[in-house]
Amino acid sequence: MTGEKGEAEEEALSWAPEDLTMEELREGQAAARALEDMLTLSSQTLVHAEVEDLYEEVRQLGQGRFGRVVLVTHRQRGTPMALKLLSKASTTRQGFLYEFCVGLALGSHPGIVATYGIGLETPDGYGFLSEPALQGDLIALIQPKRGLPEAAAQLCAQQIACALEHIHSRGLVYRDLKPENVLVFEPGCRRVKLTDFGHTRPRGTLLRLAGPPIPYTAPELCGPGCRPQGLPIQPSLDAWALGVLLFCLLTGYFPWDRPLPAEDPFYQDFLDWRASGEACDRPAPWAGLSPAADGLLGALLDPRPRHRGLVGSVRPFLGQAWKERAKLEDGEGEGAQ
Ligand code: ADP
Ligand code: MG
Repeated sequence: MTGEKGEAEEEALSWAPEDLTMEELREGQAAARALEDMLTLSSQTLVHAEVEDLYEEVRQLGQGRFGRVVLVTHRQRGTPMALKLLSKASTTRQGFLYEFCVGLALGSHPGIVATYGIGLETPDGYGFLSEPALQGDLIALIQPKRGLPEAAAQLCAQQIACALEHIHSRGLVYRDLKPENVLVFEPGCRRVKLTDFGHTRPRGTLLRLAGPPIPYTAPELCGPGCRPQGLPIQPSLDAWALGVLLFCLLTGYFPWDRPLPAEDPFYQDFLDWRASGEACDRPAPWAGLSPAADGLLGALLDPRPRHRGLVGSVRPFLGQAWKERAKLEDGEGEGAQ
């Protein structure tokens, strides 16, 4: 399985009160205010320096759509850290500060990469430091057509759901769940953490897609029904992405390319199977999943956002078999890291 290109989107920091309950609106606005305060403070304390004056570059850890991440050591103390560098050509000062501050605000959770409180401005870019994951990200561990060993998939599910619950409890929506943004800190996925908060926004922020959707994009953001002013974002977007991610971890396939019935036969097959509930309508990529996995994924991948399971829906399913036995015997025990 290879990495997925990111979704293009536009967003407007405004609110659509008619789509949100008062509580949801209040939560989102409180999160936005807290971030604005942090942003102002962090903006005043950026360190102006060249990277090499402060840190020694060891090796590149990763390259995303927006940033290059390098393993560095602190020149005086030798501390190893991950430095994410964003060039001024592609990132605004505000955009950088936003990502940095969201990381600072969330990083105390064990399922979220800790961001250190040092923001850097160089002549041509911005940077910030976080704890380094020396085992890389999850994409490298997903075997095509197989996914991960079931035990590792369940460990990921539990930790990622917990991290997302924390993000949601702070009035934010993560919006970028995919294997590339899940970092591995211990073999066998015993410790994984979410990173990359460049897309995280307060609940209720209006969003509309400005490019093609990807498998992780929830159906309410796609398609002709989407309103031109955008959709107020909700934690249910992350629940959908979690369902797609778990499907990938369990099977090594994407369930579909985009959740658009008219354009994607795999998604249409999934909808037909949901409607009929008949075993004979089960789409081929879903073979090998157990009834428990069907139940969990069915809840997270409900096309109706208000009926969709919360990310915490994974909890009662942990410890049950998620792959059918035949598939388990076929795939487990090898490649587990
Ligand atoms: P982008 O916003 O461009 O997607 P990311 O923050 O996701 O940037 O980083 C790009 C890649 O760098 C990640 O997919 C991951 O492989 C690697 N990476 C990011 N942060 C760390 C870290 N703290 N430790 C190790 N690798 C990291
Ligand atoms: Mg990323």
